[in-house]
Amino acid sequence: MKRIAILGATGSIGTQALEVAREHSSLVKIEVLTAANNAELLIKQALEFLPKTVVITEESKYQHVKEALSATTIEVLTGCNALNDVVKGASIDMVLTALVGFAGLEPTVSAIQAGKDVALANKETLVVAGEHIMSLANQYGTKILPVDSEHSAIFQCLSGESLASVEKIYLTASGGPFRGKDRSFLAHITKREALKHPNWIMGQKITIDSASLMNKGLEVIEAKWLFNLSIEQIEVIVHPQSIIHSLVQFNDGSLKAQLGLPDMKLPIQYALLHPGRPTNSFQRFDFMDYPQLSFEKPDLETFANLRLAYHAIQQGGNMPCILNAANEVAVAAFLSDEIGFLEMSAIIEETMTLIPFILSPSLVDYVSIDREARKIASDLVTKKKKVYQIEK
Ligand code: NAD
Ligand code: MG
Repeated sequence: MKRIAILGATGSIGTQALEVAREHSSLVKIEVLTAANNAELLIKQALEFLPKTVVITEESKYQHVKEALSATTIEVLTGCNALNDVVKGASIDMVLTALVGFAGLEPTVSAIQAGKDVALANKETLVVAGEHIMSLANQYGTKILPVDSEHSAIFQCLSGESLASVEKIYLTASGGPFRGKDRSFLAHITKREALKHPNWIMGQKITIDSASLMNKGLEVIEAKWLFNLSIEQIEVIVHPQSIIHSLVQFNDGSLKAQLGLPDMKLPIQYALLHPGRPTNSFQRFDFMDYPQLSFEKPDLETFANLRLAYHAIQQGGNMPCILNAANEVAVAAFLSDEIGFLEMSAIIEETMTLIPFILSPSLVDYVSIDREARKIASDLVTKKKKVYQIEK
C-alpha cells in the first residue's frame, strides 16, 4: 500500500491522481489532500477518501472546511506553511506535487528532507532550483519520479539503460493551439483562444504556457535536471498528435520512444506505483484513430518564450528562477486581460535583463530572487497595461 499526500488535489493533475487512486484502491491510500481555495471540492474529496489531514491554504475558507468535516476524524489545517509541515507526516510514503508555480518549491524541499519520495508534477520547482533539488534528493536518498508526460516517457525509455549511453533526448511538443501562426496573428489572440488546447485539458497556467511554448521551455530545463543532461542533448520536436510522448536516442543511434493516448492518468499511475504496471480500465490506443504521426521543427522566431527558456538555462544561476517568476506574473496578467499575448515574452525578456546575474544562488536566495523578479515584472505589466488599453 502506497500512502500518498496530494498537494493541489483539486486541480487537473490532483483530480486525475484521485481517479488513479480510485482505480487502484487496494494499492494507494490517500493520507493528505490540499487545495488553495476550492473548499467545496476539497470537502467532497475528503469525505470520499477519508485522509488523515486536509489543508486549505486560503485562511478565509478554513472554518467552512472544518465545519463540513466535523463529523469525521480528519484534521483540518490552513496557511501556506501548513504544506511544509504536512508533507513530513510519518504515515506518508510519497508526496505528489500537483500545485502550480513557485509555491511548489518549499513543500518539495520539506518532503525530501523528511525522506519522502516525490511524484513531481510541479515542474516550476525544478526550473527554479533543479540542481539543489536533485542533489538534496540524492543526499536524503529519496526518489523524484516525473509526472510530466514527456519526462515520464524519457524515464520509461531509460528503464534498464544507463545514462552514459544516452546521446540525446527528443522532447515532443504538440505545438499548442497556435502552431503554424505568425506574430501578427498572435498579437490579436484572446485568452479564450489561448485556453483551447488541441490535445490536453489542463489547469489555466500550463494551458497558456503550452500556447506560448513556455511550457516546452520549462520542460527542457526540467529534463536537464531530472536526467542530468547538457542542454545540447535536449531537442524539442513538434508532434501535433501528442501520441509519442518523447524519445531517447542512444550512442549507437537507436531510438526508444514511449507512446500512448494523451491521458495524464498514465504518467500519474506510473509515478505513483513505479515500478509496477497494474492493469487499469483506462482507454486503450487504437492505431486506426491515428493513421499518421507527423513532426515539425519548433518556430523559435514566433514563439520567443522557448528561445528565452533556452537562453535562461544556458546562462544558469538565477536566470531560470527569474524567467519562471516573470512568466508567472505575465501569464496571470494575460489571464486577467491586462496585457496581450506577445507582451508576455517582452515582460519576461526585460525582467531577465533587469536583475543582476548570480551564478550560484543558495536555496534560500531563490525566495528573494523570485520576489524581486515578480516585483519588476509586475511594474512592467503596469506600464504595458496602459499601452495595451489604449491600443485596444
Ligand atoms: P491546476 O491549476 O488545475 O491545479 C492546481 C492545484 O494546486 C489546485 O488544487 C490549487 O488549489 C492548488 N494551488 C494552486 N496554487 C497554489 C498555491 N499557491 N498554494 C497552494 N496550492 C495551490 O493546475 P494543474 O494543471 O493540475 O498543474 C499542476 C502542476 O502540474 C503544474 O506545475 C503543471 O505545470 C504541472 N503539470 C500539469 C499537467 C496537466 O495536464 N494539468 C501536465 C504536466 C504537468
Ligand atoms: Mg508536459
